[in-house]
Amino acid sequence: MSTCPVEDCDRPTNSGLCHDHRAQLAAQLRAVATGPPDAKHRPSPGLAAELRTTAARLDRIGSGSVGVISRDAERPLPWGEHAAQALAALHHVITGWMLLIHDDHQNSGPLQRADQVADRTTEGAARWLLDHSRWTVGRPDAARLVADVNHVVRRAERTIDRAPDRFYAGPCATPDPDTGQDCTADLYSRHVTGSITCRACGAEHDAGDRRAWLRAHARDHLDTAPAIARALSVLCLDLLDDTGLSVHRIRQWATRGHLTRRGQLPAVGDRQPQPLYRVGDVEQLLVAAANRTRKAS
Ligand SMILES: [Zn+2]
Ligand SMILES: [Zn+2]
Repeated sequence: MSTCPVEDCDRPTNSGLCHDHRAQLAAQLRAVATGPPDAKHRPSPGLAAELRTTAARLDRIGSGSVGVISRDAERPLPWGEHAAQALAALHHVITGWMLLIHDDHQNSGPLQRADQVADRTTEGAARWLLDHSRWTVGRPDAARLVADVNHVVRRAERTIDRAPDRFYAGPCATPDPDTGQDCTADLYSRHVTGSITCRACGAEHDAGDRRAWLRAHARDHLDTAPAIARALSVLCLDLLDDTGLSVHRIRQWATRGHLTRRGQLPAVGDRQPQPLYRVGDVEQLLVAAANRTRKAS
């Protein structure tokens, strides 16, 4: 018996990585190539494909805060560029390890046809590494492989989840059937209806229920007009037409004295200080406006 080579992991193994780190590596490599199955059991795009579409879609969208709470107020790069860089890092690491391991084995003798490197795409390399787990898990540098893959996969997930066209859908909190512990992952979605699958545990959540829950929890948050406009355009879909809630409309309410300023976000770099409003105050104005429209028609 020896112990797992991953730092801070002292689980016993017969050789190479422990059971948990083998499972983590395999799950992350699988996630690069294919996403979790949707409600109709069709596989969804993997992380590499998601990053490619995120990069293409968001190329022209600038920086901005995400969801109900502004997470990163300062984002020097347009989001499309973040996605392109995360994809480049993912590709570099996954194909780099594939080529390294391939060469090591080629140098020790002729390889089978299935062991040759045929597909050099990010997905192809991830699949190759999965198919050759007998070569990966026992390597002396297997701990580096685990750390490298974990790093680029986490970065890819964060980049996709926090893209400005996603909304934060709250914590998953689904209890694990084995341990009874609640899942601590956060949910993000680009779709306001249908289901949201948790990346960590695979639990399905209804996007509509999530919106209602978030709306209740967002009420007492303070945020800037652009962040509130973005959040309520999703959360108050039932009160709005297709154009959503504009920043201009929120600012107009403030100018006319319908909306009270609750604080101020200090100036950062060359960005001016920004007034903060309570999300629930804006929601109330939306409800009142929707009621007036309903009465008039
Ligand atoms: Zn381990
Ligand atoms: Zn979960």
